[in-house]
Amino acid sequence: MPPISKAPQSIVQMPPISKAPGSIVTMPPISAPRSIVTMPPISQVTRIYCNNAIHLEHQNLLQTGDDQLSVSVDAGWQKRGSGKAYDSLSEHCSMIGKYTCKITNYKVRSRSCRMCSSASSRNETAEDHDCKKNWDGSAKAMEQDMTVEMVSECNEKGFKTGTVIGDDDSTTMYCSKTETSCRC
Ligand SMILES: [Zn+2]
Repeated sequence: MPPISKAPQSIVQMPPISKAPGSIVTMPPISAPRSIVTMPPISQVTRIYCNNAIHLEHQNLLQTGDDQLSVSVDAGWQKRGSGKAYDSLSEHCSMIGKYTCKITNYKVRSRSCRMCSSASSRNETAEDHDCKKNWDGSAKAMEQDMTVEMVSECNEKGFKTGTVIGDDDSTTMYCSKTETSCRC
């Protein structure tokens, strides 16, 4: 990889997520009927939401005459990096459409799993479980990996991503450009 200082400079600031419309999931009030309301798993709800959002984003895109999505990407660590040490155990990253400001995809990277750690501390093998550990590399590399995966998934769905807008994490920008052929 070339030095970070040579990474693309055409970085556009992301809109604050707090201004994204339509991102509120309506929950039944606590005072609602005593009957038990069965909610679908959050992962299922978010998958449906993101799928709807990217279709809506694409519809808005087509009205402009363009055919490639522009998305904003940013991530947050569970534990803030100090500049010298990036040792957060997890990081989450979301992708937001330019026209709708809706979240079209998201990813989580985790370097630990409570069930695996608990079993390991007892020198036992963890029983079958939905393991959340999906990362062994450095915390600093999580964001670029999630960005590349999200852009790739968009492209696989038939929604070509032309531009990725992000903050000054030029490592992510460079990685996205090299692995997905989109502008940064
Ligand atoms: Zn596990």
